[in-house]
Amino acid sequence: MALRSITVLGATGSIGRSTAALLEGGGFAVEALVAGRDAVALAAQARALRAKLALVADEAALPALREALAGSGIEAAGGQNAVLEAAARPVDWTMAAIVGAAGLASTLAALKRGGTLALANKESLVCAGPIVLEAAAASGATLLPVDSEHNAIFQAMVGAAPDAIEKIVLTASGGPFRNASLAEMRAATPEAAVKHPVWSMGAKISVDSASMFNKGLEMIEAARLFSVTPEQIEVLVHPQSAVHGLVQYRDGSILAQLGSPDMRTPIAHALAWPARMDVAVPRLDLAALAKLEFFAPDTIRFPALRLCREALVAGGAAPCVLNAANEVAVALFLARKLGFLDIATVVEETLVELSHLPVPDLPAVLAADTAARESAMRIAARRAAA
Ligand code: NAD
Ligand code: MG
Repeated sequence: MALRSITVLGATGSIGRSTAALLEGGGFAVEALVAGRDAVALAAQARALRAKLALVADEAALPALREALAGSGIEAAGGQNAVLEAAARPVDWTMAAIVGAAGLASTLAALKRGGTLALANKESLVCAGPIVLEAAAASGATLLPVDSEHNAIFQAMVGAAPDAIEKIVLTASGGPFRNASLAEMRAATPEAAVKHPVWSMGAKISVDSASMFNKGLEMIEAARLFSVTPEQIEVLVHPQSAVHGLVQYRDGSILAQLGSPDMRTPIAHALAWPARMDVAVPRLDLAALAKLEFFAPDTIRFPALRLCREALVAGGAAPCVLNAANEVAVALFLARKLGFLDIATVVEETLVELSHLPVPDLPAVLAADTAARESAMRIAARRAAA
């Protein structure tokens, strides 16, 4: 039997590296590995996984990639078009793990070609949900959620009829500022914000976890993936991060998925689905944990949850504008050009300016994304000067 062919978009990131760790077990034929610009890490990964092709989105990194791959027989490429061509190469399974709306075009290219798409890149679903879902439906591609909460809910749905489901619950660790005061959050540094108490992740999603924009984006992601209304989605803070998602049924039953907070489990679930594969993650020790706590989130200290819910209800351009403004604000915060609490303020003010934009198709979505980035930059610069 031919080996399953695999492409990883965002191969050198946190999710990409966890995916590579599972692929190292063998039994797969790696077609393409895509990264932003980290040529040396990508080349090492491509050699270890015997990939056919390795490519960097940033063409300036191509010479370094060529050099690092010299003598390996692995093809090297660079540039945005090369990324789209690689994503469109026919493979059985693609991991979409580029961070941000930058992953939208390659996610769509992979979906249009069919096969199975394991989706970690939540921003593409937030910014262009209907377009992403239509692309999957048109090609017959299978879309499997990798985000741990959505993967948990997918597992807890076990083929249930949509009208059997009453609500879904997304759990949140609460992040590094779960018990911080507003004054502490106002003064928060990038180092403190990316220091997640439970999960080890890329910088952007770590800041999103600290602000709870991550959970807000995940509410929008869940509404898209599972066709539930905003009212059917609840968020609970669960500091132990053992229960990743829950589905409540009409008869009062609640099904949940539990596991160690290690992304290899949801990635492996998507890789082996509908079968299961061996994964050497630490097993959850419930007796050692002793207690599982759940709290309602504090929407005063974490306005992101309200903003994301409002954007989901408003629909249209609002989720795309919210996502783009958040990406800009997080990048400015990481560069120490914006305060932590200003992230939500910049997002809210950008939403007021641009939520009304019509987004009938992909070009309009991309235009709204660009306009929101420009507005957010302007609003942030005004705050920095104040
Ligand atoms: P990361 O920053 O660690 O990695 C991002 C990857 O994308 C890197 O390989 C980088 O080189 C590549 N990249 C960045 N910009 C690119 C561009 N313009 N073109 C091509 N490649 C580009 O991020 P991460 O934490 O692995 O997260 C990836 C995605 O998965 C995000 O959407 C995140 O929300 C989602 N996710 C992550 C986790 C996690 O545990 N890390 C959990 C759930 C969901
Ligand atoms: Mg998640």
